[in-house]
Amino acid sequence: MMSKLSRKAEDYLEAIFEISQEKGYARVRDISQKLDIRPPSVVEMVKKLDELGYVVHKKQEGVFLTPKGEEIGRVIKDRHDTIKAFLMLINVPEPIADKDACIMEHKLDTKTVEQIKNLVKFIQLSSDRPPWLDHFDVFCRTGEHFCGISDECRSRRKRAEAAINGYIIENMDTPRGQRSARDVTPVS
Ligand code: MN
Repeated sequence: MMSKLSRKAEDYLEAIFEISQEKGYARVRDISQKLDIRPPSVVEMVKKLDELGYVVHKKQEGVFLTPKGEEIGRVIKDRHDTIKAFLMLINVPEPIADKDACIMEHKLDTKTVEQIKNLVKFIQLSSDRPPWLDHFDVFCRTGEHFCGISDECRSRRKRAEAAINGYIIENMDTPRGQRSARDVTPVS
């Protein structure tokens, strides 16, 4: 846990951060809508956060984050986005990923979030969709650990079968129809 604030207070700072990204400040009405909390309760929490130095509530202008309030809002939002992306990578439907990210964002150790973020980035930065993600999809649907999606995996599978049958098949990465008989030689 990175701050001593309650989950609720962190949610407020996250919401105010998100709204402020768009318009530079947040109205009580905006926060109320975003968090689905009645305005009188919002006013009460904003007053608390103001007293603790996380926000400044200017009656006519709205709610502004102080630097330390902004820091927490930014980190919680980043944790939310990271955890949500991770959950969606492992096939959790978006509404559930969103809901659970909002729980996990407050509880996980910084190191854990950092490694989840590394994994998400690692996958997102791959030039192609990694084949194992497709295999994982198949596994989720069928329970079968089956390498049969990409050409590469098909050939790996064929190579294994050929080895069992006593054949070495060259040029395995060539699609089956384009392979010539020369590519298939019996093991001597
Ligand atoms: Mn959240």
